[in-house]
Parts: sequence; structure tokens; C-alpha cells
Amino acid sequence: MTSKLLCAAFVLAALLLSITFSLQPDQQKVLLVSFDGFRWDYLYRVPTPHFHHVMKHGVRVKQVTNIFITKTYPNHYTLVTGLFAENHGVVANDMFDPMLNKSFSLDNMNIYDSEFWEEATPIWITNQRAGHASGAAMWPGTDVKIHESFPAHYMPYNASVSFEERVAKIIEWFTSKEPINLGLLYWEDPDDMGHHLGPDSPLMGPVISDIDNKLGYLMQMLKKANLWDTLNLIITSDHGMTQCSEERVIELDQYLDKDLYLLIDGSPVAAILPKEGKFDEVYEALAHAHPNLTVYKKEEIPERWHYKYNNRVQPIIAVADEGWHILQNKSEGLMLGNHGYDNALAEMHPIFLAHGPAFRKNFTKEAMSSTDLYPLLCHLLSIPAMPHNGSLRRVQDLLSSTTPRKMAHTQSPPLHRGHGKPGEHEQESNAYFIGVTLGSIIVIVFFIIFFKHLILSQIPALPSMQGEIAQPLLQA
Ligand SMILES: [Zn+2]
Repeated sequence: MTSKLLCAAFVLAALLLSITFSLQPDQQKVLLVSFDGFRWDYLYRVPTPHFHHVMKHGVRVKQVTNIFITKTYPNHYTLVTGLFAENHGVVANDMFDPMLNKSFSLDNMNIYDSEFWEEATPIWITNQRAGHASGAAMWPGTDVKIHESFPAHYMPYNASVSFEERVAKIIEWFTSKEPINLGLLYWEDPDDMGHHLGPDSPLMGPVISDIDNKLGYLMQMLKKANLWDTLNLIITSDHGMTQCSEERVIELDQYLDKDLYLLIDGSPVAAILPKEGKFDEVYEALAHAHPNLTVYKKEEIPERWHYKYNNRVQPIIAVADEGWHILQNKSEGLMLGNHGYDNALAEMHPIFLAHGPAFRKNFTKEAMSSTDLYPLLCHLLSIPAMPHNGSLRRVQDLLSSTTPRKMAHTQSPPLHRGHGKPGEHEQESNAYFIGVTLGSIIVIVFFIIFFKHLILSQIPALPSMQGEIAQPLLQA
């Protein structure tokens, strides 16, 4: 009897301990994948069986509001910092910082100046400061030295490196002797072909099918490496794409002398730096120039874009209506697809899917903000979040019940430059340690009660024997 009880007690105690420690998100592995320019509704343009498999066995968010401007570098930096562009400082693919007197240009691959990235700290660095290792296959910014650090493993950017080679590196890093817990994987399409063909082109069908096959290849390799069931895979993108046309062109030279200003960034959000003393002249010339062009003085930029409190936002921005293209003159090339427009437009929105032990199965959520991914990643990796503009509370319904969810969540206060406050994750970390402590106390208390009962059931043998001796007649 006693040995059975002891056995049961040990099983129960082991169970309690394992529950306590299975809650430890330290063990979580996360692979974040971005297919550049994958618009949310591409999933339904052609059969995409691999994406649908992930959705059926994982989660999907229908509408992801990304950040203004809906360009590649600003949005990729938001995904890994949780910050709006005015707060993380990568406000465009092409920038000029008047304080640094320096330029940044994706077109010229002049993106390696650390100072453009250091207004924020990306998650691959925070993850490593917490004692883990990060690995990145071409994710924008991961081959730039930021705050004196690189990811533990990374690939210098080279567009000609195949998807398969990038996947091979990611798998190698996740399965090495000192494995990474965070992987970041980037692929340039369907953005490249979306610009070239325009999203409405029937030729986009095969491009989307090809991305689905690439996802299938990634899934196959993860299964082969025994990672598929243990790793949390998040598939997203930076922005969508909209159809442009030769009939929808705004030619700045028609309205404005090009000697009066510098065009820092082009379409569809023209960043205009007037030459000294020419601000009023430039503004007046552009303000009512074209019915499909809205011109803002920097201080008039709508609050909802979170796009005015940064030196790298130019004194005047001119924003084209959806599908319109801004050129200085028509001798410049025109793309049939573009993005960068108002982030309230559905066509600018990317996909979001996730699969793995941390996520619910076959669950669809209506909407989220791309800033919410960062606190979710920090939560999964169990690392402290830097101040951010997202909220874990808004996306915690994506998580399965086996992951710790009942924690003290508070939304990070809106961040403005110079007014950063600690993000929500610090409180979550505290809640996690409180959980572990409480779990341990329960186990200890259980043991005390159990041994007390065990001792009491053996030591007071005399009175009970006396009781038996006192009743001989009954037994007879
Ligand atoms: Zn992009």
C-alpha cells in the first residue's frame, strides 16, 4: 500500500514538475520567414496547397496592417523591432539624414552604415544578449553591424543565392551543436515579379505557385531534420502590391522646377528636400498640382501614419493615390506594380500564417498590426522586449492553451522619439518567474503533506493496534 502511494506520489510530483518546466518558453524555437511583397489575397489566386496546409494545422490572420510607408526596409525593420518607422528610424528605402549628413539607398545597396539602424535594436541582437544564438539568411539588415553586433550566423546579402541554399543554412544552424533558437529567412519574390508584371497580370499565377512550392520545400526540409513538430514557423511579408498603369503618372517636372529641390525618395511617397530658402515656393507649386497627389508639410503628416517625428522624414512629402506613380519626368521607367501607399489600403497588406507547438490549430483571426509580431516573438523566445509599439495582448489568441497565456499583459504606451518606456515583456518575464516559483512551491508543499501523511500512517501504529485488540469479539 505504502509503496503504491509512494509511486503515485512520485508520478504526480514528476507531472507537476514537468508541467512547470514545459511552460518554460526558453525551449521554443522560432523561424520567421518573409516572402517579400506577398499580398494577403495571393493565397486564393491559384491553388496554394502548402500555405493551406499551414493554415489548416496552424493559424492565419486575414488582415495585417503594416506600417507607413509600405516599403520593404521600413516594414522588415518593424517586424523585428515592433516600432513604427518614426521610432526605428528606417523611414524609407532611400533616405537622407540631415544631422548625420549621410544618405542611405537600397537602390545602390548603400545600406551598411550602422547609424541608420541604431535608433532601434532588432530582435536578433536582443535574443543574443539573453544568451541565445540567432541565424539569418538574407533578412534585410542582418548583415549590417548594429550596436557592435551581427547575428551569430548570417549570410552576406546576395540576391543570386538560391532559396534552397538559404534553407540549407537555416537547417544547419538549428541542428548544430550550439543551435540557434531564432532563424530569419528572406526571399525576394513575389515582390520582384509583382513590380515587373503588375499584380493583376495572369502571369502572377505561376509566380505564386512557385512560392507555394518553395514553402513546400522548406516544410520538407524541416520534417527531414525533425524540426517540423518542435519549431514555431511564422510566415509573413512586408507589404502587398497594387496595379499601376501608364495612364496614372504624376510628372513632377510639369509643376516644379527641379533645381529648387532634391528628390530623396520617389514613388509613391515623394520625399522632397527644398533647397535653402525655397520651401514656400516648392510647397505652393506642388500643393494643388494634381488631384491624385496629396502634399504634406512634415508637421501636417497624419498622426495615424506615425511618420513625422524623425529627422529622416523630409520637410515635404507628396503621397500618390493608390495605383498612381510619381516620376520627375516620363523618361524614367515605370513599374506595372508598386507599393508604399497608405497602409490603410487592403492591397498594401501582407500575409500572416504560423504553425508549431505554440500556436492553435485551424484558427483564423480577423486582424492584427505588424507591430504586434515583435512582442509575440519575444514571448515565444522568452526574452525581454525592448520598448515597442505593439501589443502581445492583441495577438495572444493565436497561441495554443499549452503555452503560458495568463500573464500580466499591458499594452506598451505609444512611443514617440525620446519618450520610450519599457515594453510589456518585462512584466511577462516577471509573471513567468512568478509562475515557476508558484509551481515549485506547490510541488514542495505536496511533498511535505505527503511525507507527513506517510510518517503519521506508520508511527501511530500502537493506538490503531490497540483498537484492533480492543475488538476481538467483533472479529471473532
Ligand atoms: Zn518588399
